Amino acid sequence: MYGRYGNDLLNAVLVICGMALVLIGQIFGFIILLPVSYVFYIFAIFRMLSKNIPARQKELFAFLKLIAPVKSRLKIQKDIWQHRNTHKYFRCPECKQWLRAPKGRGKIQVKCQKCGNDFIKKV
Ligand SMILES: [Zn+2]
Repeated sequence: MYGRYGNDLLNAVLVICGMALVLIGQIFGFIILLPVSYVFYIFAIFRMLSKNIPARQKELFAFLKLIAPVKSRLKIQKDIWQHRNTHKYFRCPECKQWLRAPKGRGKIQVKCQKCGNDFIKKV
């Protein structure tokens, strides 16, 4: 593997997508998904064995940029769940930035850190 790109998150996602396609194909009887899954596996192996490391890194960064909004949304949902007993999460009415405040304080005045908007919120 010396000089080869190796494994990364995109390869793992490609293999998992390929496995998911095989599973879906088996469950619902879509035989066409099996050769489609091979495309994912072959691309993952190609990326792993490639010596063109800058190109593979460019693909990885494009993929990370693509999934960044999804990761951000999942992190917010995780935070909301973890702090559901102590904090209330809400969005700024102007810029839609997520904000949080301790629960049980009644009506509070909130100032958004991002846009500076002042508003009243019941928490
Ligand atoms: Zn705001």
